Amino acid sequence: MRLVLLGPPGSGKGTQAARLKVELGVPHISTGDMLRAAVAAGTPTGLKAKAVMDAGKLVSDDILLAMLEERLSQDDVKNGFILDGYPRNLAQADALDHLLAKIGQPLDAVVKLEVPSQAIIDRVKIRFEAEHRKDDNPDVVRDRLQIYAQETAPVADFFARRGKLQVVDGVGQLDEVTARVRHALNRESVTANG
Ligand code: ADP
Repeated sequence: MRLVLLGPPGSGKGTQAARLKVELGVPHISTGDMLRAAVAAGTPTGLKAKAVMDAGKLVSDDILLAMLEERLSQDDVKNGFILDGYPRNLAQADALDHLLAKIGQPLDAVVKLEVPSQAIIDRVKIRFEAEHRKDDNPDVVRDRLQIYAQETAPVADFFARRGKLQVVDGVGQLDEVTARVRHALNRESVTANG
């Protein structure tokens, strides 16, 4: 299963991906996690990305594509993947299309988690208080939501035009949301044990 999870910051993509990867038996590829790891390790990519990430802006498409290309060439993605955090603009959506066509691994589905802005602001505030991620600061979150609306929302239309988009209500208990995603993927019969 090759799946993209879309949705605004704090919509629960990472949480749902962590659950789904167990039942789907595929790795969770989070570009945000990969970038944070690069920052923590002080790699050249991390050094370039840090200030941009802290400000809640998008890291350059070139950096992301190189990172993703490298990740998708690894062995553990041969049965699929859950991609979280990419694509975040139309240029990235196009680049992903080309990359997956080149490696002969087209997407099976794109699931968008829908959560209203006020709920996002409330959730990210709680995460900020717990984890102190600079980009979860309420001022930065407002900018991230604006970037999402301007740059990332069109990506959902891009996949909808290709008949790949499923929209899932991301408000509710974690289990409920997971069940909705499973339903969207026609995998209701799959249990947490496989
Ligand atoms: P969230 O899911 O809360 O929006 P992420 O962990 O996915 O946050 O991403 C954190 C930050 O990493 C983004 O605000 C951005 O700076 C950078 N980033 C992650 N993925 C991408 C991407 N595809 N393109 C550009 N920047 C990205």
